[in-house]
Amino acid sequence: MAERTIYLDHAATTALDPRVLEAMIPYFTTEYGNASSIYTLGRHSMQAIDRSREQVAEVLHCRPTEIAFVGCGSESDNLAIKGMAFAAQKKGNHIITSPIEHHAVLHTCDYLERFGFKTTYLPVDEYACINPDDVGRAITDQTILVSVMYANNEVGTIEPIAEIGRICRAKKIPFHVDAVQAGGAIPIDVAALNVDMLSLSAHKFYGPKGMGILYVRQGMRILPQLQGGSQERGRRAGTENVAGIVGTATALRLAQEEMEQVIPRITALRDRLMERVLTIPRSRLTGHPTHRLPNNASFCFEGVEGESILLSLDMLGIAASTGSACTSGSVDPSHVLIAMGFTPEWSHGSLRLTLGKENTEADIDSVISALPGIIEKVRSLGLSIGV
Ligand code: PLP
Repeated sequence: MAERTIYLDHAATTALDPRVLEAMIPYFTTEYGNASSIYTLGRHSMQAIDRSREQVAEVLHCRPTEIAFVGCGSESDNLAIKGMAFAAQKKGNHIITSPIEHHAVLHTCDYLERFGFKTTYLPVDEYACINPDDVGRAITDQTILVSVMYANNEVGTIEPIAEIGRICRAKKIPFHVDAVQAGGAIPIDVAALNVDMLSLSAHKFYGPKGMGILYVRQGMRILPQLQGGSQERGRRAGTENVAGIVGTATALRLAQEEMEQVIPRITALRDRLMERVLTIPRSRLTGHPTHRLPNNASFCFEGVEGESILLSLDMLGIAASTGSACTSGSVDPSHVLIAMGFTPEWSHGSLRLTLGKENTEADIDSVISALPGIIEKVRSLGLSIGV
């Protein structure tokens, strides 16, 4: 086992930035007041939450009152979609989304079907791109919500959100964006994107796990999904996780401040990685060649089981992902790759390498030198399918 893990799974999660931890510590120790309490200790907590909300609003180009802190990215997606569906059910029952969304969106739409809601799944092309015109065509007089992700978590494709937003705005249909993978990786301006609701998750941008953000544009009515106190302007009951909120805002601010330096450096590393990996026989890039997240390099290798690649990389101390879902011991091919038209022979052999700000050229060199041999070995041992 190598001494240091070469971590190339930043789409799964990131390490807490030490500066974020430092900002959080007082709220675990001395500043422990309940933000709803009126004495000084409680007010300190509320002031910290207010400051955090302002920081997040500044990054996203919105008003602080439009920001709600929630328990994770999944909760943010659930609150946006169920909250809007149940608030608007007198107007209609039709939701439009895409087949490449995260399960936090797909399973929420499935759940809503039990209550009489209907879902339309937009087509995607071979690069996982959605055509905004298809959104316009899918809207009916029953449509109450469109939900499309900003960037795909498996293949990194960035969707034409501003164009989709323009179409929804013209037809007065609320538009939710799952920006969990885009948050901290690329700039997000909710006004320029014409979005009404947007979800983020702090652990994807060096913030704490178990913290999410939901932007809800002023004037949009959603029904809360947790009943209790009136925290977060009635949008999310429960005593606020002050340390988590401070950590989330600090992490988002730092990511925004450092983006200008980080993006070109990571993009260059990623491009070198993509170029070299694609020299491996029977390999393909997944996702759009240029409209993709700066840190995402994802591939398919024909006739190989992705898990075998991961285990071999792990033995060299390299942490990566297939990007696909494992259910009860059996590995299903990724719903994203299937929607993009990949056959089982290709989609089983997926590998997602997602870079972070701490990755070095030496990390990338390690993967570049190890991977061709691993693929060859896995193929020759017959740890493969469909061949
Ligand atoms: N949406 C997308 C696109 C994601 O990639 C993820 C997590 O991987 C989520 C939602 C869920 O976020 P969380 O892990 O904070 O619940």
